[in-house]
Amino acid sequence: MYDYLIVGSGLFGSVCARELNRSGKKVLVLEKRDHIGGNIYTEQREGINVHKYGAHIFHTSDLEIWEYVNSFVEFNNFINSPMAMFKDKIYNLPFNMNTFYQLWGTKTPEDARAVIAKQKSLFGSVEPQNLEEQALSLVGKDIYEKLIKGYTEKQWGRPATEIPAFIIRRLPVRFTYDNNYFTDRYQGIPIGGYTALIEAILAGIKVETNTDYLADQERFNSLAKNVIYTGPIDAFFNHKFGRLEYRSLKFEHEVKDTENWQGNAVVNYTDKSVPYTRILEHKHFEKVTTPKTVITREYSTPCGEKDEPYYPINDAQNSALLEQYQQEVAAQSKVIFGGRLAEYKYYDMHQVIRSAFDTLEKLGVSR
Ligand code: FAD
Ligand code: UDP
Repeated sequence: MYDYLIVGSGLFGSVCARELNRSGKKVLVLEKRDHIGGNIYTEQREGINVHKYGAHIFHTSDLEIWEYVNSFVEFNNFINSPMAMFKDKIYNLPFNMNTFYQLWGTKTPEDARAVIAKQKSLFGSVEPQNLEEQALSLVGKDIYEKLIKGYTEKQWGRPATEIPAFIIRRLPVRFTYDNNYFTDRYQGIPIGGYTALIEAILAGIKVETNTDYLADQERFNSLAKNVIYTGPIDAFFNHKFGRLEYRSLKFEHEVKDTENWQGNAVVNYTDKSVPYTRILEHKHFEKVTTPKTVITREYSTPCGEKDEPYYPINDAQNSALLEQYQQEVAAQSKVIFGGRLAEYKYYDMHQVIRSAFDTLEKLGVSR
């Protein structure tokens, strides 16, 4: 008999497993996929750690979380500075003085602010109700049309007027020549890839891969006193109120017989006519020198019943449906729900770890 059965070996499940195990609990992790790590999993190809499920850059301002992940593996000093390609022209991201120079030739913050202020004034001063209005009110028409609209509509598969405003507020707007995509104090990539991080977190813990908890829920429940579930919340309840919407992704990995193909880890394609959202070149995450390179084209797709859910769609309709499921969660005494899919939240990695820490605290586990 286990104290805890943990469903999912992503960051949430793995951190819970590690800390419960450290506190003397007997734990078993079940993982549906044939590998551990969930979406942060990396695999070696051509001597390069390939981010199999999309680019993952660890960033946080929370020292406790930074020290926590660094206690398992060393992180490098990678700073994410993606480029954006729009109709054969390349721009810096996030929106900063370099981008403004590339768009308008403005050289000082004052000049750039003046251009943006003029474009913003065309939008008016109403409270933004959706991503389009939010973007126009933050950066004006040029940036919206060249660097946001196409990318966003590909990414979310719907008009920008139907996407929650908070999503674009993830991106900074800066009046300095600073291409760091994030504003957090700490940033990097685990040396040796994220799989090394997850392996270190799960060291000594029993994990069964290729095992779908929902396929034999009752039997698995009988193995443990408690369950921590990190899969999709609606799947747990057999979609009884209907399906929550997610976006899925398709990744096209390709080995190129050249040393350096695009010169940067991430290039976003912000033009709607290009079918993919971005191309990754993995060797740049860890600055490895190898004769070949591996690139990945990332496509955003609707999430059908058989597809892998990646991004929760936190609009009003899905939030209402989520609330119905959350009421069912409250009635589950044995099962704890956590992580991006079980909480249906657009969490980054550091936020998932914080959420796992909060859960552990409620369980009385001290770290
Ligand atoms: P997951 O990683 O999804 O893990 C859940 C696990 O549960 C999976 O392994 C799944 O197979 C398993 N599972 C589900 N159902 C069952 C079942 N029935 N039985 C057994 N196992 C099951 N965050 C950042 O901080 N920085 C980034 O740069 C970044 N980039 C991202 C890029 C992309 C394309 C995506 C999709 C996400 C990105 N994230 C990033 C977010 C990051 O991936 C998540 O915050 C984190 O991986 C979530 O961990 P999790 O454990 O909640 O979920
Ligand atoms: N975004 C955009 N253009 C870009 C990059 C991002 O318009 O070149 C928008 C898009 O709506 C995206 C949101 O900003 O969904 C958040 O971007 P982020 O890079 O944080 O998304 P992630 O891929 O990390 O989920």
